[in-house]
Amino acid sequence: MDLYEYQAKDLFAAHGVPVLPGRTVDTAAEAERAAEEIGGSVVVKAQVKTGGRGKAGGVKLAQSPAEAKEKAEAILGLDIKGHIVHRVLVTAASDIAEEYYFSFLLDRSNRNFLAMCSAEGGMEIEELAVERPEALARVPIDPIAGVDRAKADEIVKQGKLPAEVADEAAQVIVKLWDTFVGEDATLVEVNPLVRDPESRIVALDGKVTIDENAEFRHEAHAQLVDEKSQNPLEAKAKESNLNYVKLEGGQVGIIGNGAGLVMSTLDVVAYAGEQHGGMKPANFLDIGGGASAEVMAAGLDVILGDDDVRSVFVNVFGGITACDAVANGIVEALKILGDNATKPLVVRLDGNNVDEGRRILAEANHPLVTVVDTMDDAAAKAAELAAKAGA
Ligand code: GDP
Ligand code: MN
Repeated sequence: MDLYEYQAKDLFAAHGVPVLPGRTVDTAAEAERAAEEIGGSVVVKAQVKTGGRGKAGGVKLAQSPAEAKEKAEAILGLDIKGHIVHRVLVTAASDIAEEYYFSFLLDRSNRNFLAMCSAEGGMEIEELAVERPEALARVPIDPIAGVDRAKADEIVKQGKLPAEVADEAAQVIVKLWDTFVGEDATLVEVNPLVRDPESRIVALDGKVTIDENAEFRHEAHAQLVDEKSQNPLEAKAKESNLNYVKLEGGQVGIIGNGAGLVMSTLDVVAYAGEQHGGMKPANFLDIGGGASAEVMAAGLDVILGDDDVRSVFVNVFGGITACDAVANGIVEALKILGDNATKPLVVRLDGNNVDEGRRILAEANHPLVTVVDTMDDAAAKAAELAAKAGA
């Protein structure tokens, strides 16, 4: 889960990383009051989960509360790379002597953690990495040893941060590591990490990604979930403990058991869809090993609630839960859903007790269900039905 800048900075503050005081508001009038409280000049910053807000006009300096109100008016409602701004952070403005770049991240390709540090911050890091890779230090972090003061000193040195700030920067880096580990983050990024005119180090921006697999040990993280901007289907799926991801631009709903099977189902549907007017998978949904009727019903309910979905492909490989149990699950699920089941279902069963599973579906003879024997043919059928439903 990606966090907003203000949430990232709250976590920074909790771990002792220096940030400037600020308040998050959702109206221009509140922005004016926040600026009054903070006093002096402030920066009004769009709170959207994407970078490059500065360039897009989402970060503006204001010298007075009245100006903060004006700037907030201009920023609220902005569309930044498809993200509409509903909230702004009003924060004390800092004079900037220098801008640095710093991050800790999960380096998947090397199965390790990585620190990245540069004396040339502020600009987009992707650009820096391409244009001046020598200016961006990459320091592998042993996950067991972590980052102590000596490691932080090494990072500062490799990032070529100036000697006058080396000591303070290293202290801040240790605290950023505390944030990374303490919050179970997969990314902690500060761009820019600034040196102010008094040579103090401040995190002026913050980007944090939390590892949701660790949510069981972070009760406090639940309140970081942004219900307003959460996809309602994803929220519903989560309530039923379903592993669901909505995919933009698709028309074929997908249900399968096992993440690997669902992933390959997405591929075959996208491939088959090319022959049927460019139909694409509309979601990822893994109902896991024990496909009970309740779980199947909950899954179908989520997918049928998606207005983009025109047909559904149920792709099941019977293993521990055999095909007959899954077939009964589908039949029962359709009974539970009743009139809420309105879109054609293509079912492909294979594996344990496949014959009995197919017999159960044939006997039920539900008008919405088509049983197809192979995965490729079922994908083609689902794409065909989706194309027909859209015509
Ligand atoms: P981003 O564009 O989404 O990465 O947003 P940032 O928070 O990084 O802000 C973009 C730029 O605005 C920064 O690189 C700074 O140059 C500038 N900026 C942000 N906050 C302040 C501030 O308090 N004072 C000054 N002078 N500039 C700021
Ligand atoms: Mn930034």
